[in-house]
Amino acid sequence: MTSDSAALEAALARIRPETIDAHLRFLAHPLLEGRAPGTRGGTLAMEYIRAQMQRMGLQPLGGSHLQPVALRGMIAAPTLRFAVADGEMAPAYPDEYVLEAGIPDAHVSVDAEIVFAGFGITAPEWEWDDFAGADVAGKVLLIRVNDPGTEETPGFFDGRALTYYGRWTYKFEEASRRGAAGALLIHTDASAGYGWNVVRSSNTGQQFDTAGEPEFPLPVHGWISESAARELVRRAGEDLDALMAASERRGFRPVPLRARMHAEVTSDLTEVHSANVVGLLPGSDPARAGEPVLLTSHYDHLGVRTGPDGETRVYPGAYDNASGVALLLAIAESVAESAVRAPRPLLFITTTAEESGLLGATWYARHPLFPLAATEGVLNVDGANLQGRTRDLAPLGIDRSPLGALVRAAADEEGMEIRPEAHPEQGMFFRQDHFPLARAGVDAVAMDHGLAYEGRPEGWGERWYEEFVSTHYHQPTDAYHEGWDYGGAVQQGRVMLRAALAAALLG
Ligand SMILES: [Zn+2]
Repeated sequence: MTSDSAALEAALARIRPETIDAHLRFLAHPLLEGRAPGTRGGTLAMEYIRAQMQRMGLQPLGGSHLQPVALRGMIAAPTLRFAVADGEMAPAYPDEYVLEAGIPDAHVSVDAEIVFAGFGITAPEWEWDDFAGADVAGKVLLIRVNDPGTEETPGFFDGRALTYYGRWTYKFEEASRRGAAGALLIHTDASAGYGWNVVRSSNTGQQFDTAGEPEFPLPVHGWISESAARELVRRAGEDLDALMAASERRGFRPVPLRARMHAEVTSDLTEVHSANVVGLLPGSDPARAGEPVLLTSHYDHLGVRTGPDGETRVYPGAYDNASGVALLLAIAESVAESAVRAPRPLLFITTTAEESGLLGATWYARHPLFPLAATEGVLNVDGANLQGRTRDLAPLGIDRSPLGALVRAAADEEGMEIRPEAHPEQGMFFRQDHFPLARAGVDAVAMDHGLAYEGRPEGWGERWYEEFVSTHYHQPTDAYHEGWDYGGAVQQGRVMLRAALAAALLG
């Protein structure tokens, strides 16, 4: 139908560089102070997005564009020492460890035996149980990251790709289910895909949790650097490499170390009121009114933090993720002001507290505005392409649900190839806001952009990305710059809108 496709083309053509740039310039401005949840800057960002949605005519839900999200803010001041065979060891905070309380108490004290628990995974479907026969209740678990699957074992734990068992969130959840007193994950740059600087900047300063009783209480949990873990294990009479090797074999049993951990965590607790910002574009079919397609992007970032040099700086989070919200708003405006109406509604959600562990999205998954079983799918954007047009697109989760086929078709319409996930071992699918919804059964794709830049030499995009991750990711230098090339963001937005409308039309 010509009129429909003409209307679609007109809507797509409205996703403009100037629009994305305008939103991004404002949202990443230092005056917004890094948009941490519940702060003045976070609230300004929230109110800006709400005003934009209102202006575009996106409808509120339950009388408001805000879905309140109750958070508990926590600034932890931890002390930690290990009693080992030859005395005591006190790693440096936050250069060698970070630690916080996993329960809402102002003072948490743990004095417990340390057990090396391998990957910390119980996975019946792979006949894998790192806890077989061991009671680790009341113990502190020292756990390695990732899962046992590797490139050499394609049918086992999804081979090289990370399964959810490999995510740190799972490991803390499992430790909680086992009644552990605490858990320390061993950070390695290779397994995380980033250095200790990111662990430090992401886990110090104000942290958040959803208010109410924690789903997975754990008195203390945190990270320890590889070198500190190595020393701890050595002084406890074991060898970390040997333990690691043993933990790679089925039949591994937890290894009690001749070491105790004594930790005190004093937390400054505050109630924080934040919100997801939501706007509905109704569909054309009243019978489908309860089956929305979700388009999501997080507006929070790390706020204002004190760095290793003692200086306090704003973390403006321009690429992460003012850019995604800017793109989402541009998409919303383009379709809201067009004649395009799919049978199902489009629900635009900008989430809060993503950086604290996907909390706004988790809140939505627990308190959905439409039943999740009827929700047609979710497309998330975390990072809009600011470096120019690409020949490719790198969505995550494209083979996990039928929604992936729609994204593939939409990319095809835009003449873009689908790039296979570059680092499936890093489990990027579990690190974005669509994931709490995917876990609850909603088809989900993360709309990550490609790296094959038009007019750039081979490998330029990969080098740009590596440099971004090593130098600017979750650092004050992820800031707004004049002169970004939004051609790639426009492509990304066009594919996202096409796929969302296709999902809104399905069946
Ligand atoms: Zn981030």
